[in-house]
Amino acid sequence: MSRVAVIGSNMVDLITYIDRMPAQGETLEAPGFALGCGGKGANQAIAAAKLGSDVLMVSKVGDDMFADNTLANFEKFGVDTQHVTRVPGVPSGVAPIFVQADSHNSILIVKGANAHLDAADIERADAALAECGLIVLQLEITLETVYAAIDYACRRGIPVLLNPAPALAGLSPAHLARLDFLIPNETELALITGRVVDSMDAAFAAARELTALGVRHVIVTLGEAGALYVGAEGEFRVDGRKVAARDTTGAGDAFIGCFVHHWCTGGDIRRAITYAVAYSACSVTGLGTQSSYPDAPAFETFLR
Ligand code: ADP
Repeated sequence: MSRVAVIGSNMVDLITYIDRMPAQGETLEAPGFALGCGGKGANQAIAAAKLGSDVLMVSKVGDDMFADNTLANFEKFGVDTQHVTRVPGVPSGVAPIFVQADSHNSILIVKGANAHLDAADIERADAALAECGLIVLQLEITLETVYAAIDYACRRGIPVLLNPAPALAGLSPAHLARLDFLIPNETELALITGRVVDSMDAAFAAARELTALGVRHVIVTLGEAGALYVGAEGEFRVDGRKVAARDTTGAGDAFIGCFVHHWCTGGDIRRAITYAVAYSACSVTGLGTQSSYPDAPAFETFLR
């Protein structure tokens, strides 16, 4: 099994349960609060680690108590934090989330220390990264750092995967062309290609456009409909799993974490996608993000 490197974000979710949003100048009592570990990079790293992957995290935390919380969480699940560094005088990334009684969410993202991760951090992690069989990226760090990571991976001959989330238009075609794996959801696929993705045919057509650009493997997650693949192995769809969904936050990250775990273990893409569809479906049956990701024994039970 090869080591997985995640070069990406970590955030602390500050989840306040509210009856309604306060009006400007108003102070309201809220019924509940919870602290959660999140950030797309961290979520994907934790999902892979929970399944048994050996994961290296390259990330930045701030100079506050949230940093301690994030580091302790990585260590609890055995993620290598040798290259998770503190930025003096800067806050950690946080996501204040307001959840209303009808389960509607309002979310703010404060990148904090995540915005300070740069090309020099990647070079500093060179010896550790060189031992990894895959580099995994998302878009919660600066775009320059994402591009630097793609350049680095190509130079080192390490396969590289981009989950282009949160959705962003205008990604550089030259960098997309060098990806081994691109894993968007339907919204992200539409933004990247500038096409309307409103049907399965449209999703396949948009994915084909990306492979024509040079991406080796495009995998599109389709919510409860599962996922589709277009690339060097041909084209296919993996049906979604029917489950009683309770909370779909972090489902995409669960998919990526499980996909990379299985790809780095066996290398069979179709099997890795099939497991990832099942794993992410399992994650939506539980509440929260990382807390809803099953470990290997719990996932085995779900599969039975
Ligand atoms: P994101 O969370 O990034 O928006 P998706 O909505 O495509 O991404 O979900 C990612 C994966 O999670 C899907 O490919 C699917 O396997 C699983 N999933 C999401 N929602 C559901 C659901 N309601 N029922 C079953 N599986 C789901």
